[in-house]
Amino acid sequence: MNAADNTPKRSALDAQDIGAHLHPYTNLAAHEDVGPLMITRGDGIHVIDEQGRKYIEGMSALWCSSLGFSHPRLVQAGIDALKTLPYYHTFNHRSNPAIAQLADRLIQLAPAPMAKVFFANSGSEANDTAIKIIWYYHNAIGKPAKKKILSRQRGYHGVTVAAASLTGLPANHQDFDLPIARIGHVECPHHYRYANPGESEADFATRLADALEQRILQEGPDTVAAFIAEPVMGAGGVIVPPETYFEKIQAVLRKYEVLMVADEVICGFGRTGQMFGSQTFGIQPDILTCAKALSSGYVPISAVMVSPTVYEAMAANSGKIGTFGHGYTYSGHPVAAAVALETLKVYEDEQILAHVHRLSPIFQGRLRGYLERAHVGEARGVGMIGAIELVADKATRQPFDPALKLGYRLAQYAQEEGLIVRAMGDAVALCPPLIITEAEMAEMFARLDRALDKLQATLP
Ligand code: PLP
Repeated sequence: MNAADNTPKRSALDAQDIGAHLHPYTNLAAHEDVGPLMITRGDGIHVIDEQGRKYIEGMSALWCSSLGFSHPRLVQAGIDALKTLPYYHTFNHRSNPAIAQLADRLIQLAPAPMAKVFFANSGSEANDTAIKIIWYYHNAIGKPAKKKILSRQRGYHGVTVAAASLTGLPANHQDFDLPIARIGHVECPHHYRYANPGESEADFATRLADALEQRILQEGPDTVAAFIAEPVMGAGGVIVPPETYFEKIQAVLRKYEVLMVADEVICGFGRTGQMFGSQTFGIQPDILTCAKALSSGYVPISAVMVSPTVYEAMAANSGKIGTFGHGYTYSGHPVAAAVALETLKVYEDEQILAHVHRLSPIFQGRLRGYLERAHVGEARGVGMIGAIELVADKATRQPFDPALKLGYRLAQYAQEEGLIVRAMGDAVALCPPLIITEAEMAEMFARLDRALDKLQATLP
């Protein structure tokens, strides 16, 4: 065989992608060899690649497509909006019908009293906006020194300069000269990994809340403005907080007048079994960010809700200055707004929350079933989000050598079986479309079973 015979066959599309597309979250150096997985169509819970292979999207792509990939009502809402008003802006008192209705609906659905909703395009922009609002608010109330924001190790809040600083994952900081000043990180609430031997979930939560209080005292309570958390950490590994965690954390925040920001970008709109993760975990946010399932991922849109207290100070300040000097060209985009509004209606009309209530015990039960396998150390999750973590030794929780890339390999085997999951270290996550049926879920787990069999056949 000559060298030319070894060159993998590439379609014209693949060649264009390799030639010109700078991919996000991709090993750039390896892209030419690995090549793109060219997804050309979506159908229900499935996506279909260029060769016609059909995959169950066990991750709703990036935790987004709650209503699957071909919901006719969302498609129609987008078409109608494009025909009526394909673009307009919301600066300087402008608005459009869909965004006014969407804002109103979000205020009704909010898990805590909220005054107003600001719109952006992505989770990162929403969290960046939250940071600016936190700073603006504290200037407005005459506390200009109260500006630091505490986030958590392994938390994920996006990738813009400030949102990436909130994110507590090394890959988002390394060689990007991040985090920026005034952003710090506290402990990750992963009981399986970080609790002391024999420490209960409640005791672990008490220890983390005490550590947060110590950190606030050390920083100076007059300098700490806000604490941001995902109800369930997603990209950090699907970490469900230990029992009593948010109750204890919020008691500390209230004591030092530190705002609570709930990042509901993944948890929002039914993922944890309630409309918001804040309801599942008893969080009373002062600011809430959401995105992804707000439009089932069909069009980019995100939102930031602010409490009456925060809003009143912002309004008074902007009245003084003459404007609230923040906003995106696409804030409140009419097409995105129409699709999001329709998404919220579909959640109601199709009783998606009731469906999640019915299916999530089966989903969580299947995940927990993997604990019977030799190398599955933890199976975790809530509602319709979960993960299994592989360990070398279940008794000691000793991880595998990271060089073995077990999570990545499991995800590859799953893909061969027609299932897309996400590797996060030695854990793999599942976050299927909320519309998944019981039969489809059985098929999803059957494929994961086969992938695990293949992986385990390679282990000692
Ligand atoms: N916050 C959370 C919890 C997320 O999971 C993500 C993305 O996965 C973001 C923020 C950032 O959202 P985006 O990628 O839309 O900027």
